[in-house]
Amino acid sequence: MRTAKSLRSCLSVYGFARYALAVVAVVIGILLRVLLVEQVGELPTFITFYPAVMIAAVIGGLGPGLLATALAALAADYWFISPPGFGEVSAAGAVALGLFSAMGVLMSLVAALYASARFKVAAYAKEVQLHESEERFRLFMDNSPTIAWVKDEMGCYIYLSRAFEKRFGARLADWYGKTDAELWLPEIAAEFRANDLAVLAAGQPMQVTEETLTSDGERCSWLTTKFPFCDAAGHRFVAGIGLDITEHKAAQEALRQSREDLDRAQEVGQIGWWRMDTQRNVLTWSNESYRIFGIPLGTPLTYETFLETVHPEERACVDARWIASLRGEPYDIEHRIIARGQVKWVREKAYLEFDTEGKLLGGFGITQDITERKHAEEALRQAKMQLEQRVAERTQELQQALEQLKNEFVVREKIERESERLRHELAHVSRMATMGELTSALAHELKQPLAAILYNAQAAQRLLASDSMQVEEMQEILQDIVDDDVRARDVIDRLRTFTRKDELTKVPVNLNDLIGESVKLLYQEFLIRGVSIETHLCPELPAASGDRVQLQQVMLNLTFNAADAMAGRSDGERKILISTALDNPTTVRVSITDNGDGIDPDLLAQIFEPFHTTKPQGMGMGLAICRTIISAHNGGLWAENNSGCGATFHITLPVAEESIGAGVN
Ligand code: ADP
Repeated sequence: MRTAKSLRSCLSVYGFARYALAVVAVVIGILLRVLLVEQVGELPTFITFYPAVMIAAVIGGLGPGLLATALAALAADYWFISPPGFGEVSAAGAVALGLFSAMGVLMSLVAALYASARFKVAAYAKEVQLHESEERFRLFMDNSPTIAWVKDEMGCYIYLSRAFEKRFGARLADWYGKTDAELWLPEIAAEFRANDLAVLAAGQPMQVTEETLTSDGERCSWLTTKFPFCDAAGHRFVAGIGLDITEHKAAQEALRQSREDLDRAQEVGQIGWWRMDTQRNVLTWSNESYRIFGIPLGTPLTYETFLETVHPEERACVDARWIASLRGEPYDIEHRIIARGQVKWVREKAYLEFDTEGKLLGGFGITQDITERKHAEEALRQAKMQLEQRVAERTQELQQALEQLKNEFVVREKIERESERLRHELAHVSRMATMGELTSALAHELKQPLAAILYNAQAAQRLLASDSMQVEEMQEILQDIVDDDVRARDVIDRLRTFTRKDELTKVPVNLNDLIGESVKLLYQEFLIRGVSIETHLCPELPAASGDRVQLQQVMLNLTFNAADAMAGRSDGERKILISTALDNPTTVRVSITDNGDGIDPDLLAQIFEPFHTTKPQGMGMGLAICRTIISAHNGGLWAENNSGCGATFHITLPVAEESIGAGVN
């Protein structure tokens, strides 16, 4: 069908020429026949007409062949078959004319068949070629990583490459004839259509970036080239070729992100970088480098641009270090720069690249703004200096204070020794005063054994003077004298011990015994005063650590005070109770209770102050001395009023180390 069509068109184009060719061929045949008349005579008549018909039929086909045959037959009849002119012909001429005409028709038919076959073969070859070309184009498009399509002016798809099936899960047959609005989400379709219309309006190719959704629902970016074209009939189309740039875009985004992060990191760390390309003689700085050096972004850079910012005092040194680095020495320096009139500190480090012959290829380096660090270092240095100065001053002050303290300590030691001595003196005086109070009682106590000795001695004299001296009786008298003497010596010993002016010597003291001795000392005096003493002694009291004499002084003092407090009571009411107890494994307690008037609650704290007394002849030193003594023993002394009448004084003392845990009978 297609072959016939092309044949027809061919004929229509070349129709006139073919027929003209037939006429020309016949004319040439006539002329040649005329020229050959003399050589060949009348016969053969059609010798020059056969080639003309042949040419017309072969080149022009059936029609021109038949035309040439007819023209040649007429020409031969008219000029070359006798008699000349149209009309009668000889029988031989008629046969020749008939034969020629038959041959002419035959040749025209054969030529026409040949031409038709030739046209068919050519058309078929063309069709095969076209098919192969289409197949190659299809393979080309199907294997292309791009997608390609063609839409008509209305936006309907008329061609889609196979890639659509893979990328969008589309069945191409379903897509043909449809518009974007029927195939894509509204916003995507609108963008496609807008771009298509823009391309049709511009009448030239355009490159756009478009987004679609894949069959998996993921967004895909396409770099699309769209272009318009027209077919032979003048219909307009828009075609497109799209390249998937999703990964490229993602990589670009990642790169952009990474650049942004790098810029941010540089800003935070105040670190800029530079790159030097000696081949192209280009020096590049990062934005942060521009900021650090206070140079407007994009200013063309040279080494001199940098050197001009270096502090004048350090320029020569920095230049020298750079020149040295070009010889391969390390470049890692700290120096000052002046950026927009402001002095800054920077650290610079460069990594230069050399070829095998030592020629500089380029380099990379960093510049860090270390102004804050330098200021901090300077502040730290200043602070350290100030601190060292302060430490030196304080050390001197402390040394002086120490010296002063030493002196004060010496003075204090002296004072303490003096006060200790005075305390001893006082305690001694106090004991002597107590002695004064005891004098009459003591005199009485001594008088008794002395009188007994005298009486016994006189009795012995009398016995010796009598004739009836009995040895046993004499021995008894002498034994009594000895016993009385021992009694008197005991009294004197006790007095001597009590009035001795010894230093404080701590020994284990059995407080029960001490109380017993004190009671003995006071017995006579209290007999006179009508005061009775009762003791409740803890049978297993451990020994206290203390000075026996001083502790006895305390006992006597407190017992005398108790007796004084009961002076207003009638006979039989003046009773003192002395008790001992173990407070805890390391503390023993002695309590002296009277049933006197008690202590005014407001004065409870003051009675231990020196010179506090409520007695007309009192000195007010007794309790003060007692508290000093007990404190020196690491013990306690305090008073409290009884719930009934009278007061109780408590003494606590530490248990002697060797007696801790051991009871005393
Ligand atoms: P003095 O006996 O010389 O007054 P002290 O220091 O021994 O000095 O006593 C101070 C004061 O404490 C006494 O004047 C008395 O008022 C009060 N005092 C001491 N012991 C008792 C007591 N057992 N009962 C009531 N008052 C007491």
